[in-house]
Amino acid sequence: MTSELSAGCYLCDYHVHTDLSFDGRGTLSDFCLAAIDHGIKELGFSEHVGIDASDDAYGTLDYERYRRGIESVRERYAGKLIVKMGVEVDFRSGVIAGIEHYIQTHEFDYVIGAVHYLEGDILLRTAIFEERPQREVWDDYFNEMFLMAQTGLFDIIAHLDVPKRGYVPLYGPFDWTLYEDAIGKVLAEAITRDTALEINTAGLRKQADEIFPSLGVLKLYHQLGGKLVTFGSDAHSPGKVGCDFGAALEAADAAGLTEVSTYSGRKRTTVPIRI
Ligand SMILES: [Zn+2]
Ligand SMILES: [Zn+2]
Repeated sequence: MTSELSAGCYLCDYHVHTDLSFDGRGTLSDFCLAAIDHGIKELGFSEHVGIDASDDAYGTLDYERYRRGIESVRERYAGKLIVKMGVEVDFRSGVIAGIEHYIQTHEFDYVIGAVHYLEGDILLRTAIFEERPQREVWDDYFNEMFLMAQTGLFDIIAHLDVPKRGYVPLYGPFDWTLYEDAIGKVLAEAITRDTALEINTAGLRKQADEIFPSLGVLKLYHQLGGKLVTFGSDAHSPGKVGCDFGAALEAADAAGLTEVSTYSGRKRTTVPIRI
């Protein structure tokens, strides 16, 4: 599927997890081969890092092994694929100093910030919506996202409305307009700090049944002056690299977003999506 898109688009998948992450399968090389197969120009790895000790990702990433692995695949696939070394850091407002320290003491091409937990509860499952009023969960979540954006520590904000994974199976489609003010605050903060917004296709494979974030949120981002976006499959196995990028590109088009942000050593370059 992505191979047809690759002729006219600068395809970058900046959100994938290999077996270097606690929940990924397949090696760096397996993912590179899949990306080349799909005509992807840049593949960015985003292995999980958790700073809070209760986090599933806590202490699981071997940074040196990751760095050596990246060097090796860069050499092996030179001329065929641009490989970026990123990271997806779990944001929790209680451990901002620890997050800042980690980011300052490790080199990456880009750093993605993601909220996966609220006070220790994982946001990706239905359980959190079974235990707490939905309004409260979403309000707390968007507040945590706002605090994350406010730190300015991240290059990219991951899957902005990811709790849809747990919400949609219980309540049906998520009406983001009910949270427009809270979402607008997160977006405005990201725009002020030049933090990019990720268009993440994993929602199409999970029970959310739509991309993260919803198309309306992408349109709002554009209306507020947002221009910086990245694309991510959130693949946890090589077979999902570039998955549903056709839908992601359509969403970008529909929202008026025409450029993709790329990163090297945490410096951003924007490239037209359509080439
Ligand atoms: Zn994530
Ligand atoms: Zn991820």
